[in-house]
Amino acid sequence: MRPAVFLDRDGTLIEDVGYLHRLDQMTLFPWTIDSVRALNHAGLPLVVITNQSGIARGMFSEAFVEETHRHLSARLAAGGARVDAYYYCPHHPAGKVEAYTRQCDCRKPARGMVDRAARDLGLDPSRSFVVGDTWLDVGVARTVGARGILVRTGGGAYHEGRAPKGMSADAVVDNFAAAASWILLNLNPQSAV
Ligand SMILES: [Mg+2]
Ligand SMILES: [Zn+2]
Repeated sequence: MRPAVFLDRDGTLIEDVGYLHRLDQMTLFPWTIDSVRALNHAGLPLVVITNQSGIARGMFSEAFVEETHRHLSARLAAGGARVDAYYYCPHHPAGKVEAYTRQCDCRKPARGMVDRAARDLGLDPSRSFVVGDTWLDVGVARTVGARGILVRTGGGAYHEGRAPKGMSADAVVDNFAAAASWILLNLNPQSAV
């Protein structure tokens, strides 16, 4: 069972545009490809876990989200970088599309997507990292015993000073590039700085 890096998508790997619903809205941060590649070189599986309640809200389809992920992977591949797997939660308790409108076990901060990835890919969440721009992402880390890193891109700078009671990140950093550096420095718990 290997450690992995669980990555939020919107606001972490790509610009948060609200509910991304057209491919031309997808903008990678300038450091995204290099940072993914650096983690690839360290041998860490990378897994995107993303809440896509726009599906439950009737704003776009599952097929569109999957197309977005193929498009993102193609951009990464052009730079020699790779995400190993994508998991998304299409649900929301207050959605409009009946099939997706419910309380589920996969909408972050619930742990469902991490558990599925761990099963599918043989990962050890308790030795893993979660990177994201909201406390929902850090909350997943807390729940599964991973280390949680809040990035200030996307909504992160706004959320930084608004942590839910009792919630804190293992690190708060400017962006995914800094998060990748922090992970590489802290990979071995014995050498944590
Ligand atoms: Mg996000
Ligand atoms: Zn869900």
